Amino acid sequence: MAYATVTRLYSDQPLGGGISVPLDDAQTHYLRNVLRLGAGARIALFNGADGEWWAEIENLRKNGGAARPVEQRRKPRAEPDLWLVFAPLKRARIDYLVEKATELGVSALLPVITERTIVERLNLDRLRAHAREAAEQTERLTLPEIRDPMPLGALLADWPADRRLLACVESGAAPPVAEQLAREQPGKWAALVGPEGGFADSELDAIGKLPFVCAVSLGPRVLRADTAAISALSLLQAFLGDWRAGRGA
Ligand code: SAH
Repeated sequence: MAYATVTRLYSDQPLGGGISVPLDDAQTHYLRNVLRLGAGARIALFNGADGEWWAEIENLRKNGGAARPVEQRRKPRAEPDLWLVFAPLKRARIDYLVEKATELGVSALLPVITERTIVERLNLDRLRAHAREAAEQTERLTLPEIRDPMPLGALLADWPADRRLLACVESGAAPPVAEQLAREQPGKWAALVGPEGGFADSELDAIGKLPFVCAVSLGPRVLRADTAAISALSLLQAFLGDWRAGRGA
């Protein structure tokens, strides 16, 4: 079956041969009314733990449905251990950022409040729905975790010692990103981008002093925060992450 015709859905239920997996209202509506599928049609289900399963639709009713996993399509596989730390952005940009970061393989998204963050109420449910849709579309086997927002200072004070932080700083004399990444080792990484207003000087000073930080420039232009985040994640994946392998099996 060609990939384009595979319908992949995330399920929060256990997956395995011979069990019946309930489909929620939204999934049932989508399969029945949007795709016009019925009993016996084949879809793929993944749940972040049991890999991906071919499943046959058992029924699609007005109040929910069910599918039966018949064969494992792919074995479980973890995403790279890659975090994105970012200041919340306006709605359209943050939605876009969550979608792109999911496609780029982040394992966790950590919103942080910085001095110049314009805090709008962050709708984590909406962001998680975007992440789920992007994971379904991009053939991931897991959803990225989306953490509750916290102050940047508190996050950095409690930072895990074994994780490097690629800090994107738009001002000052930070060295070019490719030069820096060429010297670094793969492992646990995170990217950090500031808010649209940039980091405050005091924040830049504090970031620059941390032992786990690798501060870099993304070139001569001032990028929007969403562009900076996508660039940083792409570079991390290309230099140190799973872009070093092809698309593979
Ligand atoms: N308002 C700021 C720009 C902020 S851009 C100003 O006018 O100076 C938002 C964030 O994107 C920054 O905090 C930084 O993390 C990242 N960024 C943007 N352009 C960058 C560049 N050329 N190099 C490194 N980081 C950059």
